Amino acid sequence: MKYLSTRGRVAGLSFCEAVSMGLASDGGLLVPEKIPSLGRNIRDLGGTSYPELAFEIFKLYIDDIPELDLKQIVDKSYSNFSDPKVTPLVSVGEDYILELFHGPTLAFKDIALQFLGNVFEYILNKQNTFLNILGATSGDTGSAAIAGLKGKKNVNVFIMFPEGKTSAVQEKQMTTVMDSNIHSIAIDGSFDDCQSLLKEVFRDLSFKEELKLGAVNSVNWARVLAQTVYYFSIYIQLGMPRAFQVAVPTGNFGNIFSAYVAKEMGLPLERLILATNQNDILHRFFKTGLYRRDEVRFTSSPAMDIQVASNFERYLFYVYHSSRDKFQQFINSFESSGAARIDLSDLPENNDGFVTSSVSDLETIKRIRYTYERTGYILDPHTAVGLAAGFRKRKNEIPLVSLATAHPAKFPSLLSKALPEVRVSHPIIESLEGLPTRKRHLENDSPALKEFIKTVNQR
Ligand SMILES: *Cc1c(COP(=O)(O)O)cnc(C)c1O
Repeated sequence: MKYLSTRGRVAGLSFCEAVSMGLASDGGLLVPEKIPSLGRNIRDLGGTSYPELAFEIFKLYIDDIPELDLKQIVDKSYSNFSDPKVTPLVSVGEDYILELFHGPTLAFKDIALQFLGNVFEYILNKQNTFLNILGATSGDTGSAAIAGLKGKKNVNVFIMFPEGKTSAVQEKQMTTVMDSNIHSIAIDGSFDDCQSLLKEVFRDLSFKEELKLGAVNSVNWARVLAQTVYYFSIYIQLGMPRAFQVAVPTGNFGNIFSAYVAKEMGLPLERLILATNQNDILHRFFKTGLYRRDEVRFTSSPAMDIQVASNFERYLFYVYHSSRDKFQQFINSFESSGAARIDLSDLPENNDGFVTSSVSDLETIKRIRYTYERTGYILDPHTAVGLAAGFRKRKNEIPLVSLATAHPAKFPSLLSKALPEVRVSHPIIESLEGLPTRKRHLENDSPALKEFIKTVNQR
């Protein structure tokens, strides 16, 4: 399988080359030349364990890692999960929840970042080279990337977060990691400032080349690929139904784009319910055809407080497959003015199964209460956004599975608002209590950041 850029000026990359490049060097996103179809073989997946399933799917996309090595990478990546099923499906009321929070940092990002960390390690060993990973986080990505890369050889990890603006739990998950290759950096500023710093440093091509900077953000193809696996896992755990639907709490369009890929591979995923909080650019797009950047609103589902969904360009690429000019016009228009429009008639029939809904904070809290009172199950706020959207947009008669993207104990202050009578906890989070922490404090200033990265590399 070869990979190419949505923008057309990068092509013919192998999987490992695509992973190392991250964002395509022409500014686009990397996609496989074609999405492989499982066809009738999909019925043969019954009874496979999660790592076996992942291996079967990855093989279709990866031909530059020998199968034995790939198998080892996969087994290692999913051995750090506390549930033997990795992503167990549970019944809640009449519907289902797929728990994606059994990894080391209790959010779904572990599923992709454990794998990506091991792929990086494999590539670096093979090429006998080193890498400096630079990332910006509003919370969950940073800790999952750190957990995926801590203690690995030939790779330093620099994660910037806005000082005082992540939750206390999220900050501890980053700053209590003492491995010498991990550097948590508190920036004086907002998450947007961290992202601007990241872009500024990546734009300095000579610095990027010299320090071999790499990225772990959600545009990395390995993350999309790793996330397709659990949609197949739903199918198996449901007993291979004729059709099913999922509700996905969405920010950067990464998780739900993986659902789309799984559907294109042949999974009978009839409806993809895209749930946003009040940052509803994607909801508005599917309704009106207008994709327009707005101010970011701060909500009780902070991992979804995103306006520009970085994976969305991949979907547009498939929508506009037969019209490269229109694709380019859309991208140009959005980059120059922050707004672009698609003719609703250019969207595929039934929008490829996508239906959308935007959920308020009040509804999120109500959904947490309602679910707890009826079933005893405790939702995290992101998951609650998905359930609320699923409730509104579901199709009757086929199973509905809502994706639980984080464990509720990661968001104690919101939970205490929704369920004051309940104490949510998790042993992983309790174990952070009282541990020593280490963080570097830097001003919102790219020369200072570059200097710090250089100093670490001279040690
Ligand atoms: C990152 C994240 C999301 C959003 O996922 P996308 O792939 O960006 O759409 C939802 N919930 C939680 C808990 C997250 O950490």
